[in-house]
Amino acid sequence: MNDDKVFYITTPIYYVNDIPHIGHAYTTIACDAVSRYKRMQGYDVHFLTGTDEHGQKIQTAAEAKGKTPQQLVDEIHLNFKRLWEVLNISNDDFIRTTEPRHIKVVQAMFKKLMDQGDIYKGTYTGYYCVPCETYVPENAMGPNKTCPDCGRPLTIMEEESYFFRGSKYVPELIKFYEEHVKAVMPKIRYNEIMSFLKGGVKDQSVSRTSIKWGIPVPGDEKHVIYVWFDALINYAAAVGYLDDPEKFSHYWPHVRHMVGKDIIRFHCVIWPLMLLALGINLPVEVIAHGWWTYNGEKMSKSKGNVVDPFKMVEEYGLDPFRYFLLREVPFGNDGDFSELALIGRINSDLANDLGNLLNRTLQMIKSYRDGVVPDCVNAESELSSMAFNILDRVDEAMNNFAFDEALKAIWEFIGRANKFIDETTPWKLAKDETQAERLNFVLLNLYEALCFSALLIAPTMPDTAKKIWLQLGLEGEPVKMLYEKFTWGGGAGKEINKAEVLFPRIDINEWKKTQEEKKKMSEEIKEPAIEHEAEISIDDFKNVEMRVAKIINVEEIPSSKKLYKLEVDLGYEKRTVCSGIKAFFTPEELNGKTVILVTNLKPVKLCGVESNGMILAASVKKDGVSEQLTLLTPEKDIPLGSRVS
Ligand SMILES: [Zn+2]
Repeated sequence: MNDDKVFYITTPIYYVNDIPHIGHAYTTIACDAVSRYKRMQGYDVHFLTGTDEHGQKIQTAAEAKGKTPQQLVDEIHLNFKRLWEVLNISNDDFIRTTEPRHIKVVQAMFKKLMDQGDIYKGTYTGYYCVPCETYVPENAMGPNKTCPDCGRPLTIMEEESYFFRGSKYVPELIKFYEEHVKAVMPKIRYNEIMSFLKGGVKDQSVSRTSIKWGIPVPGDEKHVIYVWFDALINYAAAVGYLDDPEKFSHYWPHVRHMVGKDIIRFHCVIWPLMLLALGINLPVEVIAHGWWTYNGEKMSKSKGNVVDPFKMVEEYGLDPFRYFLLREVPFGNDGDFSELALIGRINSDLANDLGNLLNRTLQMIKSYRDGVVPDCVNAESELSSMAFNILDRVDEAMNNFAFDEALKAIWEFIGRANKFIDETTPWKLAKDETQAERLNFVLLNLYEALCFSALLIAPTMPDTAKKIWLQLGLEGEPVKMLYEKFTWGGGAGKEINKAEVLFPRIDINEWKKTQEEKKKMSEEIKEPAIEHEAEISIDDFKNVEMRVAKIINVEEIPSSKKLYKLEVDLGYEKRTVCSGIKAFFTPEELNGKTVILVTNLKPVKLCGVESNGMILAASVKKDGVSEQLTLLTPEKDIPLGSRVS
């Protein structure tokens, strides 16, 4: 195998606890299209994706579900595998960071860096949320240094940690980027990384003692390796860094990482610094793409507008979805997803341009030549010379990951072929016996234009290309062909199959009507969304100590809009409790009320007041905010301090 024709591309490994969304789909479809394209150009392609499975969040999620972290990740990593099947992704490998082949490489690299003095022991200081057991970076904190997840105040914590001496390699990395200006794409990200590097890079903390679910530090097992240091190594582990030096040296010099723009510092700073320290050559390119909005708005779980790729494929078909994502935005820019824009593309580009070209051509070959592609003396035409031009343009675009440019060029060709029909008027030629050779020429050219179009669209729309191929009476499938094997005019004598509609048009008015009906129906039957917790045992429940208490004093907390400071009497003691019920009661309404108090919660400080318990209330919430609220209270008199069970 020619060593220049090797192509190794990776997606990021996706955080296994995430619900797969359009962003995951986009990165992976982009890698898939370029991989399929390179294979058709005769490259030895290795396409890697996978899942990132360590860290505190997994540990917490597993505990909440009563599972081990390993059991949990074994189940949920399948969400991603299932999506890649549905999206027709042609990855050659799928790596999980809990696999032994990954773990041993991480430990070996960590040890090598320790042995050579590039990993050393120090103290990590950071803001920590005790209940959530997690460090919160300064840029993610809530107001007044609070935890973004639970809202409680953060405390400064110190722990022993290993550090990676990345700072030592920064000058070398800057030099590399100065000599390789295309190593970070697009240019705007390259500039961002250069100015970040020139601003100075601190050594990275690369271990934790506060987390259990991770890869142990070799020789010091109370530490686990920090999840980013662990995750990045997958790219080298998957191609045999430790076990298969031949494979590694075959693929690694050609490695390219595709990432979202939010994680470029890890890929363009930390990872290259690690590689420099390890003496491994740096990636050829890191390609960063933008983000997707939905109908102009940022997608978020709380807005409920996160685009679900499974649903889009079900409603609009796989290939239109793949086509839309790659066609709609210049790669690297942010893009907006809207179903109306998707329908627009289906109707114009797919149904009108491509679908009609196929349909008209097949109909004519059937009517005028009994379904057999005619031969002619010389098949060279404007279309044939344009075809090879287009392939050059597509090649340049694909090498720059400019999928939109590649598809634009292909559609220019399809447009030209449609115009060729209008110009040559085959229906007139068919009526004139003396024009038989001319008609043969036109039909053969149109047939070849379709074969060529099928090959060109195959990396983006493999299924559609195959359908066209079958209707054209060809064997095999376009994604398995090589571009260089294609010859213009080779289709003479082929027997075509029945013409079938590739993409039914979607009537926008009908679509809007159905959307409105769906919305109406869902509003009518809509009950408040019920979120259930995982099952717990009776013992779990018994751990919660609840007792009858009486509110004996109510004070406002001036710095808080939500909280009252309450004094409650449990009979055997009095306590201070902060309760977020200010919006629903005046102090007079609360004073003297008998309530149920959770008495064994860890004390927390809220707005400077230590709260020793929680008053039970039932509420109706909308978007996470209580709209109605009522306190739980015993239905008869009962002594204060009585246990609730
Ligand atoms: Zn917290």
